[in-house]
Amino acid sequence: MTNTQAFAWAAGLFEGEGTISFGVSPQLRLTMTDEEVVRRFAETIGEGGICEIPAQQHNWRHAWCWYKAGRRVEEIVGKLWPFLGERRRTQIMDVLRRYDVYLADQCIKRTRTCEACGEVFLSGYNKHAARWCRACWRSGRNRRS
Ligand SMILES: [Zn+2]
Repeated sequence: MTNTQAFAWAAGLFEGEGTISFGVSPQLRLTMTDEEVVRRFAETIGEGGICEIPAQQHNWRHAWCWYKAGRRVEEIVGKLWPFLGERRRTQIMDVLRRYDVYLADQCIKRTRTCEACGEVFLSGYNKHAARWCRACWRSGRNRRS
């Protein structure tokens, strides 16, 4: 099987059995009762984790789930993209757009002006570092002024 054929196969599978959702980042999932197929899918994609989902009722079969979340999702769906249908594409675009908005929002919230040198910088999540840029914080300039 060529690479193109492999991705076409994976895309077909994802089209039918996959999901894309958005929490704090985009997440792809493929859940099936056939472990071998899920493993082959993971191998084709080349990344992501696999987990086992125990049967919820005794007469159900337990399932296997491939998943991947975060920034890499964009690249993975890029590979599957040519083989996906319109409905899936719309759904994916929607999730990625929400992610872009989320990231932009984080940037706006984290943008600060350094109280020592006036540089605009992206603060980390450390509250103490939020008033001064990294250079001023390191050099101790904030404590002299
Ligand atoms: Zn500074």
